[in-house]
Amino acid sequence: MATRVLIVEDEEQIARFVELELRHEGYETDKAVDGRNGLTKAESGEYDIVLLDIMLPELNGLEVLRRLRKTSEVPVILLTARDSVMDKVSGLDLGADDYVTKPFAIEELLARIRVALKKKGPAVKDDGGKLVWHDLTVDPAAYSATYDGIAIELSKREFDLLALLLTNRNIVLGRDTLLQKVCGYDYVGETNVIDVYIRYLRAKIDERFGIHMIQTVRGVGYVIKDE
Ligand code: CA
Repeated sequence: MATRVLIVEDEEQIARFVELELRHEGYETDKAVDGRNGLTKAESGEYDIVLLDIMLPELNGLEVLRRLRKTSEVPVILLTARDSVMDKVSGLDLGADDYVTKPFAIEELLARIRVALKKKGPAVKDDGGKLVWHDLTVDPAAYSATYDGIAIELSKREFDLLALLLTNRNIVLGRDTLLQKVCGYDYVGETNVIDVYIRYLRAKIDERFGIHMIQTVRGVGYVIKDE
């Protein structure tokens, strides 16, 4: 049975665009154009995941989410405006699974949907909570990383970035997503900081051990693939 996605979004062009792309990917879709209607549909239990805009007529997205979480654990991805840091934080506090920032690349939204749906299953962890990729072992509990038994010294942000890429293997993560997850929602500073940390990671791992682990997806972001 196809995965059913509810799109709650009052901006017709965005809703239509997302709907067409999702259908192209094999998802079934339904739409609601205001918060009240969106809440009623989301509560129906007929959907596998909900894409929820925040700025909505009738009830805003955060209020929809607050009410929805009283009765339902359906995965919710918020669609937020670029500058609304508070919305993102409140949204995650209220039980959103994730968010994408408008304007978003459809590939990133599709990746976030796959991750949110996967989370319903067992967590992506190997070997007692350690993340393993070929000869690389990363232990989030101990904040340690080794390659073929050799310790790799990483700063906290390098470690967080590496763990994030490993946890989301085969999913291309955009620079904005990486920036917000690694540096925090309220990060103000150079936007190329992620590229800098990627360079450090490559020097400490890829170059040192002669492997090609972190791949660049031009114009989008970075990914670690399983192969
Ligand atoms: Ca809106």
